Amino acid sequence: MYNNKISIIGTGYVGLVAGVCLADFGNQIINVDIDQKKIDKLKKGEVPLYEPGLQDKLRKNLNEDRITFTTDIESALRESEVIFIAVGTPAAENGEADLTAVRKVAAKIGKEMNGYKVVVNKSTVPVGTGARVEKMIRDRLKKRNKNYDFDVVSNPEFLREGKAVHDFTNPDRIIIGTESERAQSIMKDVYRSLYTDNVPFVFTNVETAELIKYSANAFLATKISFINEISVLCDEVGANVKEVSRAIGLDSRIGEKFLRAGPGYGGSCFPKDTRALVRTAESKDIDLKVVKAGIESNVRQKEYMVEKIEERLGDLEGKEIGILGLSFKPGTDDMRESPALTIIPELVDKGAHIKAYDPEAMENADRELAEYRSNILYCADEYEVPKGTDALVLVTEWNQFRRLDLERIKELMKEPIFFDFRNVYDRVEVSEYGFDYIGVGTGVSDRVQEEVKQSKDQIAATGG
Ligand code: NAD
Repeated sequence: MYNNKISIIGTGYVGLVAGVCLADFGNQIINVDIDQKKIDKLKKGEVPLYEPGLQDKLRKNLNEDRITFTTDIESALRESEVIFIAVGTPAAENGEADLTAVRKVAAKIGKEMNGYKVVVNKSTVPVGTGARVEKMIRDRLKKRNKNYDFDVVSNPEFLREGKAVHDFTNPDRIIIGTESERAQSIMKDVYRSLYTDNVPFVFTNVETAELIKYSANAFLATKISFINEISVLCDEVGANVKEVSRAIGLDSRIGEKFLRAGPGYGGSCFPKDTRALVRTAESKDIDLKVVKAGIESNVRQKEYMVEKIEERLGDLEGKEIGILGLSFKPGTDDMRESPALTIIPELVDKGAHIKAYDPEAMENADRELAEYRSNILYCADEYEVPKGTDALVLVTEWNQFRRLDLERIKELMKEPIFFDFRNVYDRVEVSEYGFDYIGVGTGVSDRVQEEVKQSKDQIAATGG
């Protein structure tokens, strides 16, 4: 048994969810961050980000004294036997993971260590980082003339924003990368609720655990890019990608998840993790062709959305375009690498004015899109957006956008043109309301319909 005290360094989407849920499992948690404002809010039981279910769990564990928040990293490190590193690892300019924050925390751990500790890397970090963290701590200890025992564990996180609490408490698997039996046994204690609940645990070495995380994300991102490319072809040949997805997904070797065509993946993980994996491979002279193609295809998909709008609307100068949804997916206020951050700037650069609404992400969007602010009007709800617009674009499929009053929307718009970049609606149904409907791999254009018809006529005429 360990002393039941865990420090979690970094209190973002991962660190906070991990802290609150591990507290709920019965551990004693000290959540640390450098951001004083965040910590002040959390102490009052206020969650500084949008994540369903998190606030209630936070308050419950605060009331029951299982979680505290602080900026005092030194005391937190000294008090706890287990230290989770959950700081950000954003993409550096060259695509590599920027490990500045991880290095800072590792240095602090080496400086403050006062006995045996398990240092758990929960941040997504390239293969070899665990070994580097270990060396940094050892070097610090040497400087201090101390010889404490410690273990570094890789324990990557797979939660999805918007479903983070559910995912953390009902994971498909827990990866524990360490060859130390002592650390393994402590990690089983930390996750006792899950371990005794028959959640699969994969015990492996640090390097394998680090690579598992990147491989999982690269695979999922590539799967999305694959179906997005098929959707482009669907648009050109008169096929429906929704039916292609469903049919191929029914093959258990393929599986239905991450097979929905859309405006390209975004978020804090897939874009940066795929790039970082490519860079790791390049450093070993290995060319990850499939992963690279998936990345390029994703960039292309976001641009393709703008081309779709342009193809239908023509010159965008002075056009009013309504945008429903800004976050990279529903259920989060996270704007990192959201398709909206490609689509809106390109539309504005081409002369369009934007009206936009998102239930949670408008504050973050306004910050990200600050230089386009004069051309974006943030609206109070989904019915204010379409007023006077030349087109409406559904970018993020929040539940409240899934059952829009289409009759009301049509009345409000200047032109009833509806781009459904999440394929939420049925083309025929929406067309019956008098809309011109353009989906992703489902919204067959008049030009393509005409081409398909001509080719069928030709075949009939030649008897072929
Ligand atoms: P985030 O940016 O939301 O949070 C990181 C937090 O760390 C911030 O609050 C920041 O203030 C804090 N921080 C930075 N430097 C610090 C320091 N020296 N000491 C203390 N706190 C410090 O990031 P996130 O989304 O929670 O991601 C964290 C890690 O988890 C990343 O490596 C990410 O790739 C990985 N991950 C994220 C997700 C996700 O869905 N967001 C899922 C799985 C894994």
